[in-house]
Amino acid sequence: MNRPVAIVTGASAGIGEATARRLAAEGFHVVLGARRLDLLEAIADEIGGTALALDVTDADSVAAFLAAVPDQVRVLVNNAGGARGLERVDQADEDNWRWMWETNVLGTLRITKGLLPALIASGDGHVVTVTSVAAVEAYDNGSGYTSAKHAQSALHRTLRGELLGQPVRFTEVLPGMVETDFSLNRFEGDADRADAVYRGLTPLTADDVADVIAFAVTRPSHVNLDRIDLKPRDQAAAARIHRAG
Ligand code: NAP
Repeated sequence: MNRPVAIVTGASAGIGEATARRLAAEGFHVVLGARRLDLLEAIADEIGGTALALDVTDADSVAAFLAAVPDQVRVLVNNAGGARGLERVDQADEDNWRWMWETNVLGTLRITKGLLPALIASGDGHVVTVTSVAAVEAYDNGSGYTSAKHAQSALHRTLRGELLGQPVRFTEVLPGMVETDFSLNRFEGDADRADAVYRGLTPLTADDVADVIAFAVTRPSHVNLDRIDLKPRDQAAAARIHRAG
């Protein structure tokens, strides 16, 4: 395989799919991981990549995934994740919390830990972690998600220091509102509730985020973009939004 390898988790939809497509266009051989293998295979066919089933919450699935990836990996995009529910702390749903911590935090830990040797072996590794504005702000009713994203961010930033001196870069990408299936999944398929999130403003698209990720990974090796915040123009903070009408 002559092309450098990029691994994208959660590549079956949304930001992960857009990033996989964009990195392939930038010349990477992309390995796509997620649970919905049929979707991954269709995307991989189009971009000349490799589709591998991956459930980041399942240690056996992660082990099988790691066993199937090449010995040298240039880029890892930790993107698999999301939110479940929106409720006050005094109404907290522990199953939702568990899902968010398992997927966003422990999922990122398992995959990153497993791939660090291959990233270092490439001589020019790069870990991009998609956290969120929720990684730097707490907002009402969002504690399960904001706490998980804060933890995922802390994990990512710790690696930046621990791996200093190794040939690996670390970039955290913190999007605001991006119109994907994120809200549909957060609200268990309630399309009206999901649509209302994006009503009256122009949200970011998955391609907007992929664009930023591609920019970060195509800088020269000595340039480390540590943290990139991006939001729609009409969003100044997690819960400070201008809506038309
Ligand atoms: P999305 O359209 O719901 O995509 C989520 C992706 O994660 C899917 O490909 C899904 O694939 C994958 N995934 C979920 N659970 C997984 C698991 N256990 N193992 C492997 N893959 C899993 O949402 P998105 O907006 O693209 O979200 C991508 C990332 O951006 C998430 O980390 C999210 O927290 C973050 N983010 C999103 C927004 C936003 O407004 N959309 C804002 C800030 C940050 P399968 O279902 O096929 O497994």
